[in-house]
Amino acid sequence: MSERDLVMIPGPTNVDPKVLRSMARPTLAHTSGAFATIFKETLADLSKIFKTNGVMLPLAGTGTLGAEVALSNIIEPGDKVLVISGGYFGDRLAEIAVNLGAAVDILEVPWGSVPKVDDVERRLSSTKYKVMAAVHVDTSTGVANPAKELAALAQAKDVLFVLDTVCSMGGMDVQVDGWGINVCFTGSQKALAVPPGITIVSFDSKAQRIREQRKTPPASYYGDLKRWLPILTDPTKYFATPAVNMMYALHEGCRMVLEEGLEERFRRHAMMASAFRAGLRAIGLRLLCDDAVASDTLTVGYYPIGVRDAEFRKSMQEEFGIVVAGELGPLREKAFRVGHMGNVNRSDILATLGAIEGSLSEQGYKFQLGAGISAANAVLTK
Ligand code: PLP
Repeated sequence: MSERDLVMIPGPTNVDPKVLRSMARPTLAHTSGAFATIFKETLADLSKIFKTNGVMLPLAGTGTLGAEVALSNIIEPGDKVLVISGGYFGDRLAEIAVNLGAAVDILEVPWGSVPKVDDVERRLSSTKYKVMAAVHVDTSTGVANPAKELAALAQAKDVLFVLDTVCSMGGMDVQVDGWGINVCFTGSQKALAVPPGITIVSFDSKAQRIREQRKTPPASYYGDLKRWLPILTDPTKYFATPAVNMMYALHEGCRMVLEEGLEERFRRHAMMASAFRAGLRAIGLRLLCDDAVASDTLTVGYYPIGVRDAEFRKSMQEEFGIVVAGELGPLREKAFRVGHMGNVNRSDILATLGAIEGSLSEQGYKFQLGAGISAANAVLTK
């Protein structure tokens, strides 16, 4: 892997040098006033990005920790939990809820599809669940679930709604308060374009109340919202050492997101996604999901017959300097995943399509060379 390689996997994404440089600054004492200012500014910026007045909890750890912290604060052993899963990360949510001792039902959705509103409604009517959890964009499929509708269904039944936005926050609209998402979590390394290492979890007032009123302590000591609340109001206090230099990066990354403007950022992501998909289709590739349910952050394309996953990705990296991802679970070696989020720009999309064309061609796939780039350019220059 060369330092010049273009990382087009669905996280971590390319990090702006400004963000990287911010991490090289001297490590401040975590209880100092100077660090407290950075911490508080980051919380304020995160609130704008999440669109919430709830509390924001940034913790050293990855998205998986975010899922654990989100669920462990509101789930007690024996609680009934409904998980909507249409992919690898939906399944992970269910596994975490099971680990916490919850009675978990899974509403399984075929990979590449979204849940039917009627099915969700029926499940919520048939059992009194305490929590419903779902993934906004499952990174194994590139499907964007109808988060707003799911939140409304949960709210109507007085069920707490937890949303995994690891692969959407900062790249697609998520309105935590507006849609009624009680607990929402993301990771630093995807559409926020910060290196991996911080997860951020938001809790609205209802979720905070549920944490406050629980009968048993949360399974996670480190991730207990109650222990962190004093630090969130006064970061000079101590509970556990924040990842100081990672917080510099998150601070800078959030600044860059807000400088671009959320709406402009979403528009850019939508444009890159649609150009990329147009490019893949123009060279005859089949995509996992329909445009109507496709996310703006990543795309999953099936390999044409005869193209081998390992060779294709090796060629992408070694011949073209572009890293794309293989598939997970049942789609392993049948499809590949390309992330187009964070700082992604037109050149990245065109370069990636060019490399895909070259690598497919090397493997004997026949198509009109240049058709993908041309189709993408037509979208990008509209
Ligand atoms: N949820 C989603 C949607 C993800 O894409 C990922 C990681 O790719 C995770 C959860 C887990 O995050 P991490 O790998 O940072 O622990």
